[in-house]
Amino acid sequence: MSSIKIPKPEEMIRINYKPPRTAWMDTPVDFRPGTWSYSGAAKNLIYLDMPNPRAWQPYEEDWKLPANWKEIILEGMRERLDKYRSFRLYLDLCVRCGACADKCHFYIGSGDPKNMPVLRAELLRSVYRRYFTESGKRFGRLAGARDLTVDVLKEWFYYFYQCTECRRCSVYCPYGIDQAEITIMGRELLNLVGCNINWVIEPVANCFRTGNHLGIQPGGVKDMLEFLAEDIEERTGVRVDVPINKKGADVLFIAPSGDYFADPGTYTCMGYMMLFHEIGLNYTFSTYASEGGNFGLFTSHEMVKRLNNKIYAEAKRLGVKWILGGECGHMWRAIHEYMDTMNGPADFLAEPVSPITGTLFENARSTKMVHIAEFTADLIRNGKLKLDPTRNDHLRITFHDSCNPARGMGIFEEPRYIIRNSVRNFYEMPEDTIREKTLCCGGGAGLGNDENIEMRMRGGMPRAMAVKHVREKHGVNRLACMCAIDRSTLTSLMEYWVPGVTVTGVHELLANALVIKGEKKRTTDLRGDPFKEKTDDEAL
Ligand code: SF4
Ligand code: SF4
Repeated sequence: MSSIKIPKPEEMIRINYKPPRTAWMDTPVDFRPGTWSYSGAAKNLIYLDMPNPRAWQPYEEDWKLPANWKEIILEGMRERLDKYRSFRLYLDLCVRCGACADKCHFYIGSGDPKNMPVLRAELLRSVYRRYFTESGKRFGRLAGARDLTVDVLKEWFYYFYQCTECRRCSVYCPYGIDQAEITIMGRELLNLVGCNINWVIEPVANCFRTGNHLGIQPGGVKDMLEFLAEDIEERTGVRVDVPINKKGADVLFIAPSGDYFADPGTYTCMGYMMLFHEIGLNYTFSTYASEGGNFGLFTSHEMVKRLNNKIYAEAKRLGVKWILGGECGHMWRAIHEYMDTMNGPADFLAEPVSPITGTLFENARSTKMVHIAEFTADLIRNGKLKLDPTRNDHLRITFHDSCNPARGMGIFEEPRYIIRNSVRNFYEMPEDTIREKTLCCGGGAGLGNDENIEMRMRGGMPRAMAVKHVREKHGVNRLACMCAIDRSTLTSLMEYWVPGVTVTGVHELLANALVIKGEKKRTTDLRGDPFKEKTDDEAL
């Protein structure tokens, strides 16, 4: 947890929903410690050939903007209004019905009206009106328009980096206005004058420099996977292969790098490796494409395209048939919503067919990339895995739908199907907090850093309260999810709001239950925690 002091949970929960006395246009932004993220370091901007690299921090008076910063932003806005019809529509369409107002976890957790999605969009919409609409040009503030000033730019920075692009608000909007798209545009415009955060820019630079967002060199990836194979052998007595950069493999497997390097993701990675060993999948990891997460989504459309392209370039180089993707969040949003028109269709790859069950994954016909939850659910449905769910009896599970796989691709039932076949104690959180209405972890879109810790805990509070509900009602002690950012940010969120609940990936639960051919008598789960003793009936 961060060294920045934040209120204790019992104070944090007392949220002041009273709006400020001043009108929103007259209420300046306050860069309070714990509520914003450090600026992008100059070395990373230089590496990515991005504009205005310099030393600066958001709390400073002088942001060292280029002299013509205003022209740059307005020209950037004009270009994007011409290029993206959706952008213009989202700015024109809103009728201010307020249906989205109380749906954002950052508003619920902070009480700050500018965290209402409708007002967050208005920060940009007001500038659009002033420079690009007749009414705004003529009537100014009366028409909801305002000049673009340095203070407005600072406000954009503060609030567009307090939106996790989770899209919960858009589920409730009668016009389907996608606030995440507005936030992406806001961030793109800020990037034009060098205003971005390091927790986004450094991962992007690292993905190009070493292959993954953590900046681990290829040798480090190899060592870590071999280390995980040793751990698997210790727990199960079975040695699994670690195929890396293997030309001619059937399948290229891409996972978020958090699964190779950081607990609890490493247990999920062990789960993938055990599953592939058991079914004899001819697959390979890659050190060049050693990151599934697409940090471009938090930067610009151009960066989404460049990072997505790395995966497909590697698939071509290795000569695989198709791609299998792990439990990642934004990788799937990029694949499902953008890939086809940005880099696809991937006609040089084969239509994905499971070599074990013969199932054709029709929804991946164009992208040629299959979600591991669909792949594994299909194996279970076809009776290809032997599972002993009693091995997870020491766990009482609930499932968090990660925003991107849930709202970005609609994958709701497959993870639940795997969990129900792998554990015996599974409890859903309340209906209005799961599936397409799921609540964000509070740390997505590059906001999962330490300096932003207060906003993370505030933004994650609604999710944490739903977990607390099932903990109190059913004794839940582990929260499952299918996203590496979630596995990291939910861990600190639980420590803060719901101590006693730890976090897991779905394939960790599967691997605990998976009976592997030739395994020794297993007495512990992948973490080394002992299985619960079986009753006499169960032992029979
Ligand atoms: S964080 Fe999510 S709910 Fe809040 S404004 Fe952004 S997209 Fe909407
Ligand atoms: S729900 Fe849609 S139309 Fe209504 S205020 Fe929000 S963005 Fe505007």
